[in-house]
Amino acid sequence: MTQKKLKAGAVDLHMHSVFSDGTLTPEELVGECVKHGVRIASLTDHDTVAGVERFIRQGICSGITAVSGLELSSVLLGKEIHILGYGFDPSDETLLATLERLRAGREKRAEAIAEKLIDFGITIDITALKDRYRGKSLGRPAIADMMIEMGCVADRREAFERYLAEGRPAFVDKIRVDAYEGMDIIRKAGGISVWAHPALNAGAEGEEMLKLLSDHGLDGVEAFSAAHTCREASMYAELAARYGLYVTSGSDFHKPGEDGKHNPLGSRSYV
Ligand code: AMP
Ligand code: ZN
Ligand code: FE
Ligand code: FE
Repeated sequence: MTQKKLKAGAVDLHMHSVFSDGTLTPEELVGECVKHGVRIASLTDHDTVAGVERFIRQGICSGITAVSGLELSSVLLGKEIHILGYGFDPSDETLLATLERLRAGREKRAEAIAEKLIDFGITIDITALKDRYRGKSLGRPAIADMMIEMGCVADRREAFERYLAEGRPAFVDKIRVDAYEGMDIIRKAGGISVWAHPALNAGAEGEEMLKLLSDHGLDGVEAFSAAHTCREASMYAELAARYGLYVTSGSDFHKPGEDGKHNPLGSRSYV
């Protein structure tokens, strides 16, 4: 039997839509997958599965193999890490309850940020902001966009650098789930969990953190992340092999076109 070979870039298991901080709808994202030769894909919005069904439905129409996905804001050893979940039931009640808790926490955090911005003469219409993001994941980029519309800043980068980034005057942290709890919830919903772009968060503690996560049932590592250097990718691919974990690839795509921070769909993705 001959086995079909996939081209490099054919698998991209990390991308965002308008349901979190991406600029494309799930349907438009599938269109980008077709355009860039991505054949196996997962929509992994931050702390929400609201776009998953639309993404999968459009994938079926377009001949793309789409799996359910999400990117959970988590914490391990006091550090922020992102856990990707795949292949879970998007209607699982415990999963949805957890995401609802995170969503409500994000709303409260947006209110706290808006409160701080008042000191700088910036009055965000918090009701309009919440309306706009009803059922979606409300993050700092959404607040930045509103500040741009109000003419307070030129772009998202200025909004972060002057006000919203960690250490800046209107920074408020978001609530996260404990990484072990997050992995348990994904597993109980029938899915597998993968550590997203580990080199971005782990620093020198990569192996220690990987061991802890692996002991707790982590299934894979996103070694081939577009956020990684080649050296980091091979280091995490080797660690994954040592701990018997899957290796995945993802671009962390947020919007079309390169802007130095965001990556093209299918970039640094291999099979
Ligand atoms: P949040 O989930 O609200 O903490 O927002 C995190 C998102 O903000 C990230 O996924 C990035 O897309 C965006 N972000 C973080 N730092 C910056 C920055 N310095 N400039 C522009 N966008 C940023
Ligand atoms: Zn994002
Ligand atoms: Fe991430
Ligand atoms: Fe991401």
